Amino acid sequence: MRVGAKQAATLSDYVGKKVSVICEGCEVLRHLDGGDLLAEHGDASMPSLLANLAIAVGCERSTSGFYDRCKVTYYFSHKDWCERAG
Ligand SMILES: [Zn+2]
Repeated sequence: MRVGAKQAATLSDYVGKKVSVICEGCEVLRHLDGGDLLAEHGDASMPSLLANLAIAVGCERSTSGFYDRCKVTYYFSHKDWCERAG
């Protein structure tokens, strides 16, 4: 049982689902299998996992620094947003 809606999602929430990441700066959009990611990274929190995913999907820009920064983020379909909005 998960307590508190504000707790960050972790990879175990995405088993059997797709985790999509998009980066406009690097022109990358990838759909990754949540179960595969869990096996590889453990039950990482989604925010902290993002930097690893940027590397995995081939983002070439750094996620740190001020200039030309990688803008990789999670991508949610309209359907996902509707489900999250409840
Ligand atoms: Zn990027």
